[in-house]
Amino acid sequence: MTSPAQHTRRAVVTGAFALAAGSALSLLPAGRAHAAAAAAAGPEIVSCAGWGARAASEDVVVLANRPERIIVHHTATLNVTDYSQQRAYALARAIQTYHMDAQGWIDTGQHFTVSRGAFVMEGRHNSLAELRTGKRQVRAAHCVGQNTVSIGIENEGTYMTEDPPAAQFSKLADLCAHICTQYGLPASEIYGHRDFNSTSCPGDRLYALLPTLRRQVATRLGTPLTDPESDPIRDLIDDAAAHALSPFPEYVPERLLRRQFR
Ligand SMILES: [Zn+2]
Repeated sequence: MTSPAQHTRRAVVTGAFALAAGSALSLLPAGRAHAAAAAAAGPEIVSCAGWGARAASEDVVVLANRPERIIVHHTATLNVTDYSQQRAYALARAIQTYHMDAQGWIDTGQHFTVSRGAFVMEGRHNSLAELRTGKRQVRAAHCVGQNTVSIGIENEGTYMTEDPPAAQFSKLADLCAHICTQYGLPASEIYGHRDFNSTSCPGDRLYALLPTLRRQVATRLGTPLTDPESDPIRDLIDDAAAHALSPFPEYVPERLLRRQFR
């Protein structure tokens, strides 16, 4: 729970940070200012309407807080070489169908999805509108214990023994940089699903690439990469939440995915 006093303090601190960030931007060398401007603009993100989402089964909950971190996932689907927009949209629909009809969730679990062809799509409804304003987040279902304080990104593929395609990884970095800009997050606040739940997600290889991802996002932001703020109490709570779990059910049946092509 957050008391009104804490809300006020956070609002003041965030306001001060935003002001400082704005001033810092004008002092950056041209190249870094350009990178920061690109991160602010962000990649093209296809909305739920764009890829043909169903309506959520109930209203999604919009929380009053900003997210505190980004969590990276893999979809545990095949590493297809179909990099088309059609495939990307079919994937988004299959994930939504699986999450709603098999898992019983109200909508897609994650906030955003990046296809192997590097298309970025909105996951849960309203995630994109809230990202645009940068003040609030949609309550999600992508990582137990983190669904009210993090943005979840699913990356199409299985990255236990293979790296993601370069274009997909680069688009993931673009998306993370944009999310960091909009919500005032440092690049150090990017994690893998396995940091919080007992799961192999986002795969050994993509997980091993997270330090690279943080560095690339920091470059896009035009800021140095800093260590995450240490919060021992938070770490204990996260640890307890992670160990209370059975493995997170996270995959989309391939036959279901194929059915979503139309
Ligand atoms: Zn995951």
